[in-house]
Amino acid sequence: AAKEGGKAAWTRFEPRMRADVVSHARLGSELHNAIIRRELYLLYQPVFDIVTGRLHGAEALVRWKHPVRGFVSPGDFIPVAERSGLIVPLGSWVLREACEQLARWRREHGDGAIKAINVNVAVRQLRESGFVDEVAAVLSETGLLPQNLVLEVTESSVADGRQVRETLHALHEMGVRLALDDFGTGQSSLSLLRAFPVDVLKLDKSFVDGITDGEDRGRLAVAAAVAQLAEYLQLSAVAEGIESLAQLERLREMGYRLGQGFYMAKPLPAEDAGALMSSNAPAPVMYAA
Ligand code: C2E
Ligand code: MG
Ligand code: MG
Ligand code: MG
Repeated sequence: AAKEGGKAAWTRFEPRMRADVVSHARLGSELHNAIIRRELYLLYQPVFDIVTGRLHGAEALVRWKHPVRGFVSPGDFIPVAERSGLIVPLGSWVLREACEQLARWRREHGDGAIKAINVNVAVRQLRESGFVDEVAAVLSETGLLPQNLVLEVTESSVADGRQVRETLHALHEMGVRLALDDFGTGQSSLSLLRAFPVDVLKLDKSFVDGITDGEDRGRLAVAAAVAQLAEYLQLSAVAEGIESLAQLERLREMGYRLGQGFYMAKPLPAEDAGALMSSNAPAPVMYAA
């Protein structure tokens, strides 16, 4: 019976587990090739001033177009890249590419160009002892100032340990701004805010969803509290994942000044994001009602 039970358990779990292991291993090696073969590219999601409707900034988001598998979502390959350590070269590529793009926009659009570019950074990158020097080198080689760069880190990265803490302090001292991404979903948000040189809070999409999900007072309360917290601490607050005018208007009432989401704009190719910079007009969709 024991043997049978063991066998049953094996047949029940083995196929899925193996498929998972195999696909992650394969994804990892294919990702390694992807970097070499230049199958990666960046899209830029505009961030708007939701009071004036004007373009404020943009977040660089990596994409992978696999020659056979087609489009692979960052939600699938970023975790694989983090576990394998490939996130370090991948992240270096993203940082340089995003800074080069901002420099290009500044040449093409002058004062119309956004002032800063947001780049997501994984904890593995922050643990690299050369990270601060790498950022400084990329900025100087692309002709950007530290204030032209916003690095998005998660609450768990910030709580990682002394090395990461020192790295974040050094970046901040250099003048690079730091944003806490997916804010509100982590473990120890409030104490972290006192111990770290944070400049921007990015309210996680789940709380924005909560605004229009019927009677969800809990998530609504978090959205409102984060806006207040940012105001008291004199940080800027960005609401992520805005999908409707109703959410946009509620967030504006709560005191959010900045927002990004499919309602205003999806992540765009560099050219399309650049086109928004040449027309200085507010996004009309934001005043539909
Ligand atoms: P994130 O940094 O929180 O980025 C926001 C994600 O929300 C993006 O997903 C964006 O496309 C999506 N989003 C924005 N507005 C809306 C909306 O209105 N509705 C919906 N449903 N989604 C919206 P994406 O591009 O799939 O990226 C997922 C995550 O992958 C990112 O979350 C980030 O954690 C990670 N990621 C993406 N690019 C990079 C990168 O270059 N480096 C690192 N380390 N992580 C990255
Ligand atoms: Mg982000
Ligand atoms: Mg986010
Ligand atoms: Mg997120």
